Amino acid sequence: MICTILSIFASIFQSGWTGVNERTFIAVKPDGVQRKLVGEIVRRFERKGFKLVGLKLMQASEDLLRTHYSDLRSRPFFGKLVHFMNSGPVVAMVWQGQDVVKTARKMLGETNPADSLPGTIRGDYGVEMSRNVIHGSDSLESAQKEISLWFHPHELQNWESSSNSWIYN
Ligand code: UDP
Ligand code: MG
Repeated sequence: MICTILSIFASIFQSGWTGVNERTFIAVKPDGVQRKLVGEIVRRFERKGFKLVGLKLMQASEDLLRTHYSDLRSRPFFGKLVHFMNSGPVVAMVWQGQDVVKTARKMLGETNPADSLPGTIRGDYGVEMSRNVIHGSDSLESAQKEISLWFHPHELQNWESSSNSWIYN
């Protein structure tokens, strides 16, 4: 257990996924895709100042979703959650920037849209917990696990953003 934790930390620092290179995994869930919210969600992350480094529309397999949500496997809603996430395409994304993991969670709102403030994605576009439009990694460790689960390294682009010096001091 301790070894696993140490190796996750080691790989986070070795890969340089900290500071302005911090990355998080974001997915527009099947309800968000059906409700044509993809453009709006991408727009919010772009305008905030984060950098898009990976994006794909895909049908997630049940296996992938069970692994992705493995921490929740003993919860009563697990089966329904996997079934729902498998019910249509999702848009998987990786966004990069300083404190992107924590900031993205704020942009998403609370798990339950009813507890999410207006101005957040779930607060503006969701009503029920099981149809909350979007997923975002909850920590640096889960971000790294989720990015490597959903993306091959060659699907992530390292590129220089021309607006960098207008976003970071
Ligand atoms: N979920 C649900 N019922 C619950 C709790 C969670 O359907 O009582 C779903 C919801 O879609 C949530 C996902 O399971 O986004 C993962 O739950 P988690 O607690 O990790 O919330 P999140 O990190 O997405 O805010
Ligand atoms: Mg979660």
